[in-house]
Amino acid sequence: MRSKITILLILVSMGSFAQKKANVVILATGGTIAGAASTGVQSGYTSGQVTIDAMVNAVPDITKLANIKGEQISNVGSQDMSFEIMLKLAKRIAELTQQGGLDGIVITHGTDTMEETAYFLNLVCKTDIPIVLVGSMRPSTAVSADGPLNLYNAVAVAADPNAKKRGVMLVMNDWIHSAQSLTKVSTTAVQTFMSPLNGLIGISNYGTNEFYRFPFNKYGSQSEFSVDNVAKLPRVDIIYADVDLPADLIDASVEKGAKGIVIAGVGNGNMNKAGMEACERAVKKGVVVVRSSRVVTGNVGRNVEVDDDKMGFVASYDHNPQKSRILLSVALLKQRSNADMQKIFYEY
Ligand code: ASP
Repeated sequence: MRSKITILLILVSMGSFAQKKANVVILATGGTIAGAASTGVQSGYTSGQVTIDAMVNAVPDITKLANIKGEQISNVGSQDMSFEIMLKLAKRIAELTQQGGLDGIVITHGTDTMEETAYFLNLVCKTDIPIVLVGSMRPSTAVSADGPLNLYNAVAVAADPNAKKRGVMLVMNDWIHSAQSLTKVSTTAVQTFMSPLNGLIGISNYGTNEFYRFPFNKYGSQSEFSVDNVAKLPRVDIIYADVDLPADLIDASVEKGAKGIVIAGVGNGNMNKAGMEACERAVKKGVVVVRSSRVVTGNVGRNVEVDDDKMGFVASYDHNPQKSRILLSVALLKQRSNADMQKIFYEY
């Protein structure tokens, strides 16, 4: 008799466990995933037309994965993403995670600047719960729209306890990327995101997830960066180096008040002599110069072809120009030596 009661209790508790769904909040910012066109087979469309509620309703089984609440933070194409919206997102995430009871956060976002927002949040959000960015390459009205399944998989990752402590991720077309490793590589292809140096965090296939690794660098609760009381980030400009780089672009950036300059250099973060001299002038005026590269993969090493110690430059290491700009903007919130700044580019 006693054992029958025990079995009954186990069954009841298993039932309530099976019914306990994760709580996931979707913060919507716009992008092609919320885009619409007048026909299903045209390349032209407008980003940020569809609300988060309409997007969730387009994926009926999504509510079997989690209890979902949607919030509209903005509704812009991510070409119009701004530090203002990124700060708003970071603050809302801080509020939500402090309230407790939340298992994961999904952020819908345009793909154009998704790597900047993902990397920014990875630096400043002090939480171990999964934060998953998702977008699509085809608008919601297109034939074979990729948004609904991407959103389904993103919610499945956000709701998964195994996704915890993996920092900010991006889920698109079955692949789970780390904010640190991903970059957009195609203007139109559905498989546009790659993690060329470090590989994937895992895969998500119709909501079934497999995880391969944790990110290698510092992020989330280990991060020293905070934007809690920050209303504006310091100006950092990216200057693209190519043949005969006009060095007065660098001087103009300093004159306009940049506190940091990122060079999207050739090869291993290099530039012509005139560019080097302009960067040296910038450093003498207190501007932090980071040498990154316009090349898609590979690290920019300190003191390889350029004497960074002598010139006072920082080598971007594994950060492309757009991620270097994000890291430098956040790192410049505090006065730091050249050595400290270099350490940050190695650690994050
Ligand atoms: N321009 C769009 C955006 O970034 C492209 C996309 O979402 O794929 O919002």
